Formats: sequence, C-alpha cells, structure tokens
Amino acid sequence: MSTIDIDRVRAETPGCEKIIHFNNAGASLPPEPVYRAVTRHLALERRIGGYEAEERARDLLEGFYTSFAGLLHCDPREIAYVENATRAWDMLFYSVPLRKGDVILTSRAEYVSNYLAFLHRGRRCGAVVEVVPDDETGQLSLEAMEKMSDARVKLIAVTHVPTQGGLVNPAADVGKIARKHGILYLLDACQSVGQIPLDVEAVGCDMLSGTGRKFLRGPRGTGFLYVRRSLIDKLDPPFIDLHSATWIDGRSYEIRKDARRFENWESFVAGRVGLAAAVDYAMAVGLENICRRVKALARSLRERLAEIPGVAVCDLGVEKSGIVTFVKDEIERFCRELAAE
Ligand SMILES: *Cc1c(COP(=O)(O)O)cnc(C)c1O
Repeated sequence: MSTIDIDRVRAETPGCEKIIHFNNAGASLPPEPVYRAVTRHLALERRIGGYEAEERARDLLEGFYTSFAGLLHCDPREIAYVENATRAWDMLFYSVPLRKGDVILTSRAEYVSNYLAFLHRGRRCGAVVEVVPDDETGQLSLEAMEKMSDARVKLIAVTHVPTQGGLVNPAADVGKIARKHGILYLLDACQSVGQIPLDVEAVGCDMLSGTGRKFLRGPRGTGFLYVRRSLIDKLDPPFIDLHSATWIDGRSYEIRKDARRFENWESFVAGRVGLAAAVDYAMAVGLENICRRVKALARSLRERLAEIPGVAVCDLGVEKSGIVTFVKDEIERFCRELAAE
C-alpha cells in the first residue's frame, strides 16, 4: 500500500503555506504543475499567438484524452473537453432521445441545474421526472429504484457525490439496475472525480460528466465528459459546429464519430492543458491514496466537530465523502424542521 508524501504535495501547493483551505467542493487549490501548465501556455500565446501556441501544444492537448482515459478506465475516443460540468452534462442529457411519457429517474440529491434541465425537457417534450426516495441511511434507495425501473424509464440520471451532505450514492449498484433493465445511465461525477477512484466499467454508466476545479484541482472554466463508444453515434448533440461536424455540401454534413462531437471549436486551450496536468498529478499521487486520505481527514473532522457543543454534523449515507456538512445551534433546529417536512 503506497501513501502520499504529504510534505511534497504541500510544497507543491503553495496556497497551503498561508491558509487552511476547506472549500474543495467549490474549487481546490491547484498544485504547481497545473499552475505551470496554464501559465506556460498563456506565455506561449503571448509570445507567438493563440493558434500557433495551440499547434505547439498539440501533443499536450492529445494527452488530455489519454490522461482522462487512464483516470476513468476508458478509451481516449470516449472523452471530450467541455468548458464546465453543467454544459458537459447538458450536451449528454439533451442528446438522449426522449418523448412524451418517457420517464427520467433521478434521486433526491440531484444537482439543481440537472433537475432544471429535467423540467425544461419535460415542458418541451412531455418527458417526466420521477424521484427515487432515499433509504433510511440517506442514500438513494436501490430497492425503490429497482421497483421504479419499468418500461417507461428511458434514462437514469443521478449525482454520485452531491455538493453537500457528505453522501456518496451507490453508483455501481445503480449501474447494475440500469444494465439489468437496459436503461441509459448518466452519472454526474462532479464531486467524485479526483476524490474517489472511478472506473466507468465498474460503475456501469453510459455517460459521465465532471468539472476540473473541484477535487481534480484543475483550473476554473474546465470540464469534461465520458460517453460509451457503442452509444456515441446514437446521441445527436444539441449543437454542432465545424469542429464537431464536417460540412459536406449544401444539404449534408457528417458528425464526428468520437466523443469530441460534443466539443466546441473554440475553447480555453491553456485550461485544457492545465486540466490534463491536473489529471496526471492526481494519477501520480494515486486515486486510492487520495481517497483514503480524504476519507480519513473527513472522518476526523466529523468526529471533532461533533464534540463541540451546539454543533451537529448532518452528513448522510453509508459511504461518506470528503464533503463535511454541519450546523450550529438555531440553524440546527431549522435544519431538523426542514428535514421533517
Ligand atoms: C459543481 C457541480 C456541478 C456543476 O459544475 P460546473 O463545472 O460548475 O458546471 C454539477 N454537479 C455537481 C454535483 C456539482 O457539485
């Protein structure tokens, strides 16, 4: 069992010399290799121009796909760069064919923007969203999900680790249900990627989205998606451009065969290079190591918070993430009342 060289990773994170930064569910402190990758590319743009710099960074930019393929245990052709996780998720969600009466299954911990998109498509095409209740531990109820997975369900879309509440939803068990019933499965892995080892085969998801700046410690304004190869040509992107498609003649075009059909032509090149550096950094530290460390720190924080009078830790679920949620005094009463409703 390897461990993290804490002194080294601290030295590579200059931000932690002066502050203790807890807001990793918002945006983490990036390590030096990420900062250097971004600034080096910006310097190159300043010196020779953006298009020319992109040309020089070609290998690094191709490396983005192989790095993510290594991280998620998939093929580089199944990866796309997107400017944030919301748009990455949207590109996937809005390309899933849905008709009136089709059902989307989600859980109570779903990210708000995703839920808004369920309602948005519901208004447009008449698909309906059904929310799987939680079980007694606070994670989504697998038993209820299994029961609700009837022939009307065309998509299961859940969040792996929600932004608050400490929960880790049982993503791989959801994958088993989705496969058993032949339902497409879209996983929002925004808070889990970089924090928990992810293997898209083991999870059994068909599509996955994530952001760069949270536990991956990449730059802001970066995100990515994964889509299973066998599914790619069945998903018609909501938007196309001259990068995602080729214009053939006045009446026809051809869409790319790989996941880059979900990308834009113009993007934050320095950010892409920086995000690839973040993935390589996380892989070098080791996702198992990161996960163990994050869990141990979160456990000790929960224990110590719980000892403080008037403080209550609110985290849910069987398996807990590195996101620690607590309330104090009057806020606690308010929270209980809310939960009882
Ligand atoms: C942060 C977050 C998002 C949105 O990611 P952006 O990169 O800000 O678009 C989506 N889902 C979850 C669960 C998140 O925590």
